Amino acid sequence: MRKAFSIFLIFVACAHVPAQNETAQQILQKALQRLGGESRIRSLKSIYFSGSGFEDGAVNAQPFEPGKPARNKHEEKLAVFLDGRRLAYELKTNRGDGTTRHRRFYFPDSRRIVADFVTRSVFASNIQYPSTDRDRDARRIPHAFLLEVLANSSRLQSKGSAVIDGRQHDVLSITLPNATFPVDLYFDRHTNLLRKYETTTDFPGLGSSKIEYTFDGWREHPRLAFFPSMQRIRINGEDFRSVAFDRMLADSPEADAMLELPPDLEGFITPSGTVKEIAKNIYFIYGVQGFQPMFVEFKDFVVAIEAPANVPVLEQTPIESFGNMNAASAEFIAKIRQKVPSKPIRYVVVTHSHADHFGGLRAFLPEKPTVLTTPGNRDYLQRFVPELRIETIAEQRTITDGETNVQLINVGRNPHTDENLIAYFPSEKYLFQGDLFYFNSDATFPAKDRMTVMPFFAKWLKANGLAPERIYGFHSTMFGTMEHIEKILKLSNQTSQL
Ligand SMILES: [Zn+2]
Repeated sequence: MRKAFSIFLIFVACAHVPAQNETAQQILQKALQRLGGESRIRSLKSIYFSGSGFEDGAVNAQPFEPGKPARNKHEEKLAVFLDGRRLAYELKTNRGDGTTRHRRFYFPDSRRIVADFVTRSVFASNIQYPSTDRDRDARRIPHAFLLEVLANSSRLQSKGSAVIDGRQHDVLSITLPNATFPVDLYFDRHTNLLRKYETTTDFPGLGSSKIEYTFDGWREHPRLAFFPSMQRIRINGEDFRSVAFDRMLADSPEADAMLELPPDLEGFITPSGTVKEIAKNIYFIYGVQGFQPMFVEFKDFVVAIEAPANVPVLEQTPIESFGNMNAASAEFIAKIRQKVPSKPIRYVVVTHSHADHFGGLRAFLPEKPTVLTTPGNRDYLQRFVPELRIETIAEQRTITDGETNVQLINVGRNPHTDENLIAYFPSEKYLFQGDLFYFNSDATFPAKDRMTVMPFFAKWLKANGLAPERIYGFHSTMFGTMEHIEKILKLSNQTSQL
């Protein structure tokens, strides 16, 4: 149901500016009191709402057919932290063309991060506080907005009163820092609650337009004193967006969770060199000179997976990494030592016969580890590192201390190399592989140039009854899932039917 309401502005002539500001301050104070009072609001960590409704593309000049409504389902969540710094806003809106816009914009620290859940891409940029961008989003929570108005209350002006839906409202106006246009705030004279705020702006396709943000259905709230049960954004009197809130929470885990990037998207923005314990005793490194090796901590020893080395670009003279082939693995070992200072690295697993995966083996010599690889690699690797003991795995070998388990499985002949070992963690259902599966930080998946080895790997998983929850890769900062495997299978079936 859409209520039509009319507004009558009665401007009160006011000759005395300080007195006018005093009146404005009183109105603001009453409104803040109604929401629990300044100190109670400031004592909160966060305020969160989630809700759903619609968005109408016809109203913001994005119609399907000009002149006709274009309403599509819209969901959103907003978490505003009262520290004035952190914030997270997520929206999920049908575009009306069968696709969905699903994004989260958030400020977990001194970064602004945009995560796109459809393309599974993430962008991060550094910001400086105060952030205009962050503060604009925060104003949709009336408690947070009124605190900001209070902090800038010397700029407040009284604009008299107005009637909305037959009720008297006091109107205050403020031009906020970093803003061009003033915002007018309407307070219900009987309840003192913020009924709406509005601005006027040039809107592409519409011209000079009035944008209103209305709060409806105010209800008592145990922590927030009062909270609206819906918000509408209106452009020139038409509902662009209408959202009924299903949850309104103070200091909630839901708000905290909004600041966490979903783990499958973490890889995009995790600083290079970060060592992450992805499960108990299992570590993944985001970027050792461009590689992502893993290591596993057991009771008495460590297992390193891969011995990374940068392979020189031979066309370039002089060869860049000449004399420095141990650099990446030395860095890998240093990362292991940060987390596990004293246990010996008893095993180094080499997935396959390519030098970027084993070329750093000599860096491990002081550790005197045993190299674990496939039978076909024994003589080849032994020539490179005669000092190291090598054990081979024709089919499968499990390393366990009764608590932590890793299965090393030879996938056999495949499009990439004759043999290849994968590491599977059965308790966690995590898998690590080298060059059998790629999930890289561009939005296109699967990479077309990998569509021989990836269908092989997808079919191999199926044939072996493995359905890993996460597929980590030596060349990928993100992990794939069975969703990706199914996509590869579908694509490869379509191709083979052509
Ligand atoms: Zn390879």
